[in-house]
Amino acid sequence: MDFVKIPTKQKKHNFIPENELRGKQLRDFVFAGNALFTLANTDTDNHVTFKVKKHKEEDVWFVSTLGQYGKYVFIGTCFSDKKYKHSKNSDIALSDKKVDVFNWMLSKFFNDQDKYPMVRVYHHGRCGACHKKLTTPESIKSGIGPVCSGKRRG
Ligand SMILES: [Zn+2]
Repeated sequence: MDFVKIPTKQKKHNFIPENELRGKQLRDFVFAGNALFTLANTDTDNHVTFKVKKHKEEDVWFVSTLGQYGKYVFIGTCFSDKKYKHSKNSDIALSDKKVDVFNWMLSKFFNDQDKYPMVRVYHHGRCGACHKKLTTPESIKSGIGPVCSGKRRG
């Protein structure tokens, strides 16, 4: 007996999101320390991938975006106020759409996610804090593994 029925219809995209993040879960995930996630606009069929990595000691987060050829490009930083600050050293201009999207996510989307049902955020199946593969159903939902969420030690 099959556990699930395999759909015969082909998926439209190769991009298959692991799971969607919402509300506090999303905000916690983005600043968890080592977060990889994709924002998708289902109306326009666009998506942008970001990596937000925390400094080892300080409350500084480094933001990168997935550029051409699968390489991550550093765009800017967030400090303890969790606002985006564009870097002069970035290869991507402040006027770039990807920078816009990140700024928009922090300033608008974070506070009123329900207003934008066409925008979805997905993690890539890895813990937002330590980047290990998520395996428990609960952690696949939250994006944070059992050890990092403090629910289980060891
Ligand atoms: Zn973890």
